Amino acid sequence: MLRLRLELTNYPRRAVVLTDTPRPDCPDCDGIGGFEYDYGDHNGEYAGTEWDPCVCWNENRRWLLPLPRLPRWLRRRRTTPDPWASNGYSNEPPF
Ligand SMILES: [Zn+2]
Repeated sequence: MLRLRLELTNYPRRAVVLTDTPRPDCPDCDGIGGFEYDYGDHNGEYAGTEWDPCVCWNENRRWLLPLPRLPRWLRRRRTTPDPWASNGYSNEPPF
């Protein structure tokens, strides 16, 4: 089963990015998604830290879903009150 994560990005354009995620109960990486280890150069000196992604997910597997501009009805909802809101009549005195 795919475990997808939703991310919103504004670069290079406004879009939704679906990314694969590590297996939470993975016995290899404990759900972290990979292994960090230091490596050295030929003298045995510390040369950096390597990151090995675990096989339980694919960090390069991502889908970019471009977002269309906001539909007009969504934009209108933000600027005008919802006429169907139940509290629209709540401040009328009960005769
Ligand atoms: Zn794993």
